[in-house]
Amino acid sequence: MSEARFAGIGMTSARTRERLIQRLIEQGIKNSEVLERIRSVPRHIFIDEALASRAYEDTALPIGFGQTISQPFMVAYMTEVLLEAGPLYNVLEIGTGCGYQSAVLSGLVSNIHTIERIESLFIAAKRRLKEMGVQNISFRHGDGYEGWRAKGPYNGIIVTAAPVEVPPTLLSQLAMGGRLIMPVGVDGAQQLILYTRNEQGLQDKILGPAAFVPLQAGVL
Ligand code: SAH
Repeated sequence: MSEARFAGIGMTSARTRERLIQRLIEQGIKNSEVLERIRSVPRHIFIDEALASRAYEDTALPIGFGQTISQPFMVAYMTEVLLEAGPLYNVLEIGTGCGYQSAVLSGLVSNIHTIERIESLFIAAKRRLKEMGVQNISFRHGDGYEGWRAKGPYNGIIVTAAPVEVPPTLLSQLAMGGRLIMPVGVDGAQQLILYTRNEQGLQDKILGPAAFVPLQAGVL
C-alpha cells in the first residue's frame, strides 16, 4: 500500500483528521497518547473507498456483513478507560471487525490478541494490519464467547459487540488487577460496563449508555 494512501487527501487529509481530534477533546477525551494515536491511525483505510470521505466523522460506519466500524469517540473512550490504571502488557479484544480498534490499541499496549467470528472480516483485518506493519497483534477466527485462554490471563479485555449478559468465560480470563470493558444489554438498552479484578474479587461500574452490534455465538 502506498504512503500516499495512508496520508490521505481531501476529505481524509490532516486537517479533516484534526477536526475529529478537536471534537474528541470537546467530548472529554483527555489521554494525550490516545488522542495522538487516533490522529496517526488512518481510519479511511479501514472502510470501503465509497465511504472514505466520511472516515473522520465521529460516527459508526458500515463494514459489510451487517457490522460496523465503531464510532471514534467510543474507540477513544474505551481505550482511555482501559489504560487508566497504567500500562497494559497483554490485551484481548473480542470483535476485530475491520481492525480499527486493534490498530489504535497496538501503539499503546505491548501485545494484543483479537478474535473475529466472521471469516471474511478476520482475513481482511489481518491483511490490512500486516500491510500497515503492525506486529504486536495475533488474530484468531473464532467465537469470542470462549475468549482465548491459551494466551491469557489478560490485563485488559475489550469487547466491541454487546452480549445480553456478561460471558463468565471472559471474566475468568482477566488477570489480577486487570480491567475488562464491554457493552452489555439488548439493542436500545445497552450499558458500557467496566469490570476490575482485585483481592476482593470482581467490581463492576456502569459507565453509561452504548450502541454496539450484538455479540453473536458461533462462527461464520
Ligand atoms: N472493533 C471493531 C468493531 C467491529 S463491530 C472496530 O474497530 O471498529 C463488532 C465485531 O464483533 C463484528 O465484526 C462482529 O462480527 C464481531 N463479533 C460479534 N460477535 C462475536 C463473537 N462471538 N466473537 C468474535 N467476534 C464477534
